[in-house]
Amino acid sequence: MEPGGDGIAAGPREKCGVVGVALEDRPAARPLYYALYALQHRGQESAGIVTHDGFQQHGHVERGLVGDAFEADDLESLNGTTGIGHVRYPTAGSLDKSCAQPFSVSFKSGSLGLSHNGNLVNAAEIREDLARQGHAFTSDGDTEVIAHDLARNLLDADLVRAVKRTMERIHGSYSLTIMHDDTVLGVRDPKGNRPLCIGKLDDGYVLASESAAIDTLDGELVRDVRPGELVVLDADGTGYDTYQLVEEENTGHCFFEHVYFARPDSVIDDELVYEVRRDLGRKLWAEAGVETDVVMPVPDSGRAFASGYADAANETTADGDPRPDGDDGVAFAEGLMKNRYVGRTFIMPTQDERERAVRLKLNPIRSTVEGKTVTIIDDSIVRGTTSTQLVDLVKEAGAEEVHMRIGAPPIVAPCYLGIDMATREELIAADRSTEEIRETIEADSLSYLSIDAIAETLATGHEDLCLGCVTGEYPFDVEGEATDRDVERPAIGESPPADD
Ligand code: AMP
Repeated sequence: MEPGGDGIAAGPREKCGVVGVALEDRPAARPLYYALYALQHRGQESAGIVTHDGFQQHGHVERGLVGDAFEADDLESLNGTTGIGHVRYPTAGSLDKSCAQPFSVSFKSGSLGLSHNGNLVNAAEIREDLARQGHAFTSDGDTEVIAHDLARNLLDADLVRAVKRTMERIHGSYSLTIMHDDTVLGVRDPKGNRPLCIGKLDDGYVLASESAAIDTLDGELVRDVRPGELVVLDADGTGYDTYQLVEEENTGHCFFEHVYFARPDSVIDDELVYEVRRDLGRKLWAEAGVETDVVMPVPDSGRAFASGYADAANETTADGDPRPDGDDGVAFAEGLMKNRYVGRTFIMPTQDERERAVRLKLNPIRSTVEGKTVTIIDDSIVRGTTSTQLVDLVKEAGAEEVHMRIGAPPIVAPCYLGIDMATREELIAADRSTEEIRETIEADSLSYLSIDAIAETLATGHEDLCLGCVTGEYPFDVEGEATDRDVERPAIGESPPADD
C-alpha cells in the first residue's frame, strides 16, 4: 500500500525541512539557498524559496535537489531581505508540483507564504469547513489548509491573535516558517513534535529545522523554538519577539529525529544528535552486547551508534565486567563501502528495486569480514530489506557469523506525523517477534534497543516523547489508532474564540 493509504494520512506526508531569514541589508535568497542545502537530507523531491522586498513576494519552487532547482538567475530575481524556504521529501505516488512549497497566497490583507514540516491529523475537517465558507483549494496538502485558515483569521485579527486562533484549530505536527508580507514567523506545534530553532547571524536572524543550517550561515544557535511558541523576526533583521501562544502539559518530541532523521551535527532540543546516537550505541552494548571479532556500522546511519557501541565494548565485556588485561576487545572497522550516488533505498517503489538498490548502495570490504564473527550496527529496521541483504552480502564475503544490533526499538506502526516510514503491512516488526525477524533476515542473532534506553538518553519521560512508531500509541488522536494520553481534538466549524 502507498504511504497514506492507511489510517488518516490520506494527503501527502510532509517530511521536510524549513527555514526563514530576516536580514538587515542583504538579499535573503542566497542564505536561504545555502540553508536549504544544509537541510537537503530532510527532503529531496522539491525545493523552494519565497522572498519579500517590502512591496511584493518573489518565489521560485522547483522539483529536484536544491542544486538542480535553482539557477544563479533564479536567486538574483528573488529580491528582498526577508524570506522563507522549504525542501520537501518525496512521497510515493504523489509527485505533484502543487504540493511543492513554500505555499504562497495573496488575500485582502496582504500576502502569505508557508513552509511546513509535519502532518496535521485534522486537516480534512478544516478543509471541509473552509470550503463551505467559499475557500477554493489548489492542492491536497495540509499546508494550504493552514494558509487559508490563517488568511481568514488575519481579516479580523492582528498577526499574533490570528496565529493563535489557527494554532487552536489545527491539530497534529507542525513546525512552520511563515511570511506575512515582509515579516518572517516561526511556529512550533504545542507538542514540539518536529524540530525548529532560532539562530543569530552577524546581520540578522534565522529560523531553521536544524541547527546545521545555522552553522552553514556562520550563525550561532540561540535556542530551540519552544513547543506552542510563535517567534516573529523583525523585518529589519535587528531582533525578534516571542509569544507562548499555546501550552500543553506534555511535549511529544519525535525520538526518531534523534535516531535517524536529523543530521548528527545538529543540536535538537538541546542535545547534539551525534552524542545522543553514540550514547544509544553504548546502551545497546550494555543491553545486548555480543562478543564478536569486528563491529561495523551500516554507513552512514549506523556510524555514531557503532562508535559508541565499540567504545563500550572495549571497556566492559558483554557480561558487564571490566575487560581483563590482554583482552583485545572488539575491532571497530568499516566493513561496508557506500556508493554515495545512490539515493535512499527507501524511495524505491517496488520491493525488487529496493533489494537491488541495497546491493548498488553497499558493498562489503572482504578483508574486514572474511573468516570473522561480525556485528553489524544500524539505527533502525523498517521493512527489513537492508538487514536481509546485508546479512547475505557479508556472509557471502566470508563472515563466519553475522549479528545485527539496532539502535532503536522495533518499528511496529506507521508514522502519521511527518516521517515517511512505511505502511503497517510493510513493517517487518508489525506482526513478528524479534526471533521471527532474526529468522527472516537470517542473522545469527538480532537485538534492538529498549524504549527505556531512548527515554533515558534523551533525559525525558516516555510521556514527553512521540513513540508512536515503536508503541502504536500516539500523542495525538489519530483516527483508527490508539493514543497514549488524554488529547482533545479541536471542534471545527465553531466561530473563532472571542478575543484572546
Ligand atoms: P529497511 O531496509 O526498510 O529495513 O530500512 C532500514 C534502513 O533505512 C536503515 O538503514 C535506516 O537507516 C533507513 N531508514 C530508516 N527510516 C527511514 C526513513 N523514514 N526513510 C528512509 N530511510 C530510513
